[in-house]
Amino acid sequence: MTHSHDDPCAHCEEMMQPYLDHILNAEEVREAEQHLDDCEWCRRRYRFEESLRVYVRQAVSEPMPSGLKKKLAALRIPLN
Ligand SMILES: [Zn+2]
Repeated sequence: MTHSHDDPCAHCEEMMQPYLDHILNAEEVREAEQHLDDCEWCRRRYRFEESLRVYVRQAVSEPMPSGLKKKLAALRIPLN
């Protein structure tokens, strides 16, 4: 796995978690959103991550079926 700063998609991916946590500053948000405007691949990744987070937030308030836990573990999504 390489994280080159010359690759806008790699940079975008690095910013994804902080972006979804709303801890980027205004300039970084603008940078990320500018890239998302141009790049359908990253846009999909962000949407996917975002929908997963909503799903996980809902799921933690209810007992989770073990099958779902395994699925989430397979995706390596942090549950907190
Ligand atoms: Zn991209």
